[in-house]
Amino acid sequence: MKKIDFHIHIEADLPAAESAAYLKDMCCRHGYSGINVLSYCYNAADYDGYHAHYNEAALALKKEMGEGSFAFGCLHYGEDYAEQASACMAAGFDGIKLLRGGKPNYYKAYPHLYDDPLYAEFFALAEERYIPIIMHNNDPAYGWDLAKATPRAIQNGWVYDETYPTHQRYFEAAENVLRRYPRLKIALAHMGFYSENIEKAFELMESYPGLYMDMTPALNIYEELSQVPERARAFFLQYGDRCFFGTDASNLLVGEARAYNDLKNAVTDHFFAGEGYREFSNESRPKPVGVTGLQLPQVVLEQLYYHNAMRFLGRA
Ligand SMILES: [Zn+2]
Repeated sequence: MKKIDFHIHIEADLPAAESAAYLKDMCCRHGYSGINVLSYCYNAADYDGYHAHYNEAALALKKEMGEGSFAFGCLHYGEDYAEQASACMAAGFDGIKLLRGGKPNYYKAYPHLYDDPLYAEFFALAEERYIPIIMHNNDPAYGWDLAKATPRAIQNGWVYDETYPTHQRYFEAAENVLRRYPRLKIALAHMGFYSENIEKAFELMESYPGLYMDMTPALNIYEELSQVPERARAFFLQYGDRCFFGTDASNLLVGEARAYNDLKNAVTDHFFAGEGYREFSNESRPKPVGVTGLQLPQVVLEQLYYHNAMRFLGRA
């Protein structure tokens, strides 16, 4: 079965050839034919340094990976997002990645959710030109509940008090964008965090034919879906032609990052194709992650792991 890891990031400042070596090794180990590198990652504190060169680095990595790999550009601070998006597409990007307006830890430095007028021209352009967008919006609900937050979330500062917009407000922002631009070709990263409310995911997929779900873990997504396995299976049988997969791998895939990537592959392999309840853990995540296998039909798996990504890109 042909597979593509459609959601990876450059987190470390490495020469493109070195990043490609780590990612080619990952493709080999997990059976991916290529990657989609999303310019932008959560670790953007050093904005004026290396991270100002995200887009150049992403295009260099795409080139280094060769045929069958892709790249999505990011929009830098500013009000000319439509212009930047046009320039990205002209430079060889295959789509646009949005993160800053939807990842709550950026809110204090950048208080503009995606329904802010700042983005209006950009979304209108993307809708008109069918520019594919992968949009990170929101965080898991536990980010707003310190008692339930994971050690990784706390360590990364992904915990939010009343000085941040609420979890609900982020959902509203995404739904406002979909309502205003109903023909957008847009994928919600991490299933838009709708795994905690799968009925809403059904409703959105029904309403917006250009909406895709990017099933890249957060592993809690898979734990949550495993609590409603019948509805989750029904979702993938019904909308399995608009879901794709990625692992959020970084370009420096060593040690814990490599182990975490292996764990994500094991958990999601079992969830989509396996049978029954199983728990997974390794040195990156000693607390077991329990998921229920959905035993999806081969034809759905083939769509999910490859063909939907190509359709999203306008290549199928
Ligand atoms: Zn990501």
